[in-house]
Amino acid sequence: MAKMMQAAIARKLKAPLQIESLPVPQPGRGEVLIKVTACGVCHSDLHAVDGDWTPPPVLPLIPGHEVTGHVAALGEGVTGLKVGARAGVPWLFSACGSCEYCLAGMETICKQAEATGYSKPGGYAEYMVAPAAFCGPLGDDIDMYAMAPILCAGVTTYRGLKRTGVKPGQWMAVLGIGGLGHIAVQYARAMGMCVAAVDIADDKLALAKSLGAEVLINGRDGDAVKAVQDRIGGAHGAVVTAVATQAFEQAIGMLRPGGTVSFIGLPGGDKDGIRASISQLVNGELSVHGSNVGTRADLGECIDFAARGLVTAKIEKQPLSAVNTIFDRMRKGEIVGRVVLAIG
Ligand code: NAD
Ligand code: ZN
Ligand code: ZN
Repeated sequence: MAKMMQAAIARKLKAPLQIESLPVPQPGRGEVLIKVTACGVCHSDLHAVDGDWTPPPVLPLIPGHEVTGHVAALGEGVTGLKVGARAGVPWLFSACGSCEYCLAGMETICKQAEATGYSKPGGYAEYMVAPAAFCGPLGDDIDMYAMAPILCAGVTTYRGLKRTGVKPGQWMAVLGIGGLGHIAVQYARAMGMCVAAVDIADDKLALAKSLGAEVLINGRDGDAVKAVQDRIGGAHGAVVTAVATQAFEQAIGMLRPGGTVSFIGLPGGDKDGIRASISQLVNGELSVHGSNVGTRADLGECIDFAARGLVTAKIEKQPLSAVNTIFDRMRKGEIVGRVVLAIG
């Protein structure tokens, strides 16, 4: 009989996940079987099970793309990883490796890319498979629970920050201090930037302050755009990880002339739009970038920051069985930092 595992699975969208006993998957060619230690709960998992995005996830769906674990078995032809090695699995499950984007080092926009916990089964399970070439190697002396959020929140904000081109000593506005945002604050500080944190909850701003943000702005208290312009003369760059469209519009207004914003959050799906002033963009020579997770190169770099203790996710461990309660808390904006499922 096949070896069985516990997993949280969605058989339809907009419904609670179910904990089921399922067969442990077999690694195919080039893949490894990962015994999952920890999996962070990213807001993208909630968007997935709520059916917020087009195309919808492949059902049945096992969410989870902030995975750390051990290699338990090797598929045919795997050379880069050994049984017992520690590895992380990110959102970018795979990319084709040969299209114009992959060849240009932009595998994040490969049209044939697969997504962990969206188009492929993810880490809300005791075991999962992943292509060896897309796993992030992890050292022996790291905390596997605190490292889990780096696999998405880390790599995504690290790349988003880099794409603004902001230099050490310049101001970075971070809008949304949730799972992603509290890690963005830390990467920005580690890169020598000054941080203005914007959220609508004081407990999240208190966390940002403890992580080194120098200016704290509650978007519920008056005009957040004016506050940023008045207090720091506008930000050289901004990253938006908030789950509200309003923050995306505000981020443009918070920039100084010549500034760049990376849009990272995906509130309510791809039907949502923003209104931006054309003259503000033109006259201020502002840039707006979308930023989608990160490449394998970004992943290696951002894991290194975390392994060296420069960035540490603030985590709350919960069992797999608590996943629906965690989703409810996330919908209400009640999570400070990141919840990590302690699975293995
Ligand atoms: P989260 O729920 O942990 O955090 C969201 C934060 O936004 C909360 O702190 C909340 O208080 C704050 N917020 C809500 N409304 C706000 C407003 N008007 N102004 C300022 N802040 C506001 O979510 P998360 O896991 O950090 O994910 C954030 C978003 O990023 C999600 O939409 C997720 O899907 C997306 N995401 C995108 C990528 C990518 O590659 N682009 C990767 C991962 C996550
Ligand atoms: Zn994510
Ligand atoms: Zn490609």
